[in-house]
Amino acid sequence: MLSLYNTATRQQQPFEPADGKIARVYSCGPTVYDVAHIGNLRTFVFSDILCRYLAFKGWEVRQVMNITDVDDKTIAGAISEGLSLSEYTEKYTQYFFEDIETLNIKPAWKYPRATEHIEQMQALVQTLLDKGHAYEVDGNVYFDISSFPAYGKLSGVQTAGGSSCGFSRLEGDEYEREEAGDFALWKAAKPDEPSWDSPWGPGRPGWHIECSVMSMEYLGPTLDIHTGGVDLIFPHHENEIAQSEAATGEPFVRFWVHGEHLVVEGEKMSKSLGNFYTLRDLLDRGYSPQAIRHQLLTAHYRQQLNFTLDGLEQSERTMQRLNTFIARLPRLPLLEGSSEEVADRIEEAQAKFEQMMDDDLNVPGALGVVFELIKDTNTLIDAGELRDQDPMMVLDFLTQADSVLGLMTNQLEEAAREPALDKEIEALIAEREQARKDGDFAHADEIRDQLAAQGIILEDTTTGTIWRRQ
Ligand code: AMP
Ligand code: ZN
Repeated sequence: MLSLYNTATRQQQPFEPADGKIARVYSCGPTVYDVAHIGNLRTFVFSDILCRYLAFKGWEVRQVMNITDVDDKTIAGAISEGLSLSEYTEKYTQYFFEDIETLNIKPAWKYPRATEHIEQMQALVQTLLDKGHAYEVDGNVYFDISSFPAYGKLSGVQTAGGSSCGFSRLEGDEYEREEAGDFALWKAAKPDEPSWDSPWGPGRPGWHIECSVMSMEYLGPTLDIHTGGVDLIFPHHENEIAQSEAATGEPFVRFWVHGEHLVVEGEKMSKSLGNFYTLRDLLDRGYSPQAIRHQLLTAHYRQQLNFTLDGLEQSERTMQRLNTFIARLPRLPLLEGSSEEVADRIEEAQAKFEQMMDDDLNVPGALGVVFELIKDTNTLIDAGELRDQDPMMVLDFLTQADSVLGLMTNQLEEAAREPALDKEIEALIAEREQARKDGDFAHADEIRDQLAAQGIILEDTTTGTIWRRQ
């Protein structure tokens, strides 16, 4: 049974969807003010693995990931480049979609944009005002944290008592852990800022309200799982809980699952520290998306991952070995039948793989199981003991594992096409032999050229024609 570490209870707990069928997952998505760095992408790869594994366990997965296209940073960026907010954010939204495709991250069920849900955000703000959890000051609306006694339950942040409206008010989207305070649900527009009309005057939503609104809009008042990086626990997720539970009176999230940071020399990779690589930076340096994804999977999601180019080079070599293994598997000279040894080994690997993943998504452990099996298969190949049916069984196992890992998808698809391709090639070679026998050398040459264009080299020997790939 799958168990996940829940930040809310600070322990690992058995997980299944509340309704036993559909896993409702909300993942905090990108703020589209710039290109994502690979720290951000580590968090998205982690939620991808989580959703892939939920599907592997047989549940239908509905993952919603927001696109934050209005906040302090997007507004500042649009103003400095002289673009409208939507022109500015659209560019980075498209980069984000390209990045996740490059990293073989499965698309979420929905990617709602904040600016397309302003009405619903205003409605939630109004509900909070009506229920006495919020108050207005000069066109700004704040959440009154003293009206919600459970404030701080996720992060452990102290609110130190205080009467209604008695806390300091925090204006920015993000603030320090020590600073629990009333936070903005709606912000009055400053001159020249993009704004929307509202009952409290022109303004825009605060950052936290968008996630409460868009998660509940698509997934209902109680989510099975909410993900994000650990930096979001406070204030973002604490505030999401306050807004949502104060409005609905229902528990907002069953499992809070947070991914640790990608760090560089002990410090969080971030734009503000300037210690970051984007995906494009790494691709330009010649690293493959496959190795980058592998590197992001080398640490457990609750451990910091220390990013280095050396580590990435190691991943590159590991992936090359994996690819070579997959490519040669369907085309080995084999003994007939299938060996019991391989079938047993695969059964054992399947059980271990699931055991690792069930244990709070132990991906490094699951990768270890895959590579152990590859090592053992190579030993059998070298000993000439692999049999006819064995490669297919190994490839089936790798395909199952890859539905979770997403590391060798292209290679496996190619290997699956191989036998069919081989048949086509052999049919063309037979046709060419016939043409040669018939003295139709023009047609024989045509076939040779056609195969050469596909990278197939023919060699005519005394015992017949043999072929190989270039
Ligand atoms: P942002 O685009 O800044 O809203 O961040 C998108 C996601 O990336 C959030 O879930 C953050 O928690 C996460 N994140 C930011 N920096 C890092 C990092 N260095 N390592 C891992 N995740 C990060
Ligand atoms: Zn969020």
